[in-house]
Amino acid sequence: MPKTQLTKDKLQQKVKELLESEKIEAFVGYGEGDLSLKKIPLVITRPEDVSKLTFDQTSTPLLSRYLLDGELKDKKVGILLKGCDKRALDLFEKENRINKENIYTLGISCNGVISINKMSEYLNDPTEYELNFDGEKVKASSKTGEEVEFDYQDILSPHCHICQSPTPEDVDDLIENEASEALVPIKEDGIMDSIIELEKASKEEKYQYFIESLNRCRRCFACREACPVCNCPKCLFDIENPRFLDKSTEESAQHQYYHILRAFHVADRCVGCGECERACPEEIPFYLLHEKIKKDIDEMFGEKEDALSYAYPDDVEPFEEGGEA
Ligand code: SF4
Ligand code: SF4
Ligand code: SF4
Repeated sequence: MPKTQLTKDKLQQKVKELLESEKIEAFVGYGEGDLSLKKIPLVITRPEDVSKLTFDQTSTPLLSRYLLDGELKDKKVGILLKGCDKRALDLFEKENRINKENIYTLGISCNGVISINKMSEYLNDPTEYELNFDGEKVKASSKTGEEVEFDYQDILSPHCHICQSPTPEDVDDLIENEASEALVPIKEDGIMDSIIELEKASKEEKYQYFIESLNRCRRCFACREACPVCNCPKCLFDIENPRFLDKSTEESAQHQYYHILRAFHVADRCVGCGECERACPEEIPFYLLHEKIKKDIDEMFGEKEDALSYAYPDDVEPFEEGGEA
């Protein structure tokens, strides 16, 4: 039996027990979507629906953000968490955005997720292919019978190469992902090497690099929408009056303004999931900017998480009536 099937069976069995025992009212996991290369977030409430749950290296979207708003907010909810998703959940707890008492955390050991952008380097339309994972190799098969084999390392999302903890810590229960037995060693290079390389460049070269990258931006905001920690109820860039961001996509200064502000906003809160990079239609490497800021913060403050932001329940919103700017 394929290892992904074994993992799926364990996951479904565990969630069935949780729902049947009424320990939880709903479970947030992954289901099959229209695209074979991307699983979709799925909420189930009935034990008979557990067969719809799945998990593999195409389970990319972070699920924890679905606990912030809407119907799930006040329910007893179980949730499947990879390492990066657990880091996001921990951040929400620190920022008093969730009630951890209501949440059952079911961790899963993760061996990374694929990047469709990276697959595009090898295939014309990766979405036409089904993937089969077998340890260090991935076989992509098209409907027309074409087969292409990759080294998993070559199509792994860049952030996964430098993941701090693929297996989530301090969870209520942990599903051992059978496929992670074949976990390829996480490379030490990747993003960090690119940053060190960039640091050696002159100021003009760095400026040129970022401007050329950012000028490809369409300001579609897909990076913001995909980011689990970019979740302010009211985003600065959506405010109509005063409008902080012009709607034109031509203006280079506006691209810089958006990206620099977003980079500082997520700087010490970024959980390194790579969702922004996977969402970007222009493959803009702005995560290098985020990681560079994180690296500088670590060097300045020590490796302290959330060095720049603390929130307490009695904090006053600075721009609300009675608050202080
Ligand atoms: S960053 Fe990648 S390897 Fe780390 S937990 Fe998330 S998906 Fe898994
Ligand atoms: S900035 Fe990118 S890598 Fe960081 S948390 Fe947001 S989506 Fe994930
Ligand atoms: S997803 Fe890419 S193109 Fe869209 S706003 Fe973000 S950086 Fe720009």
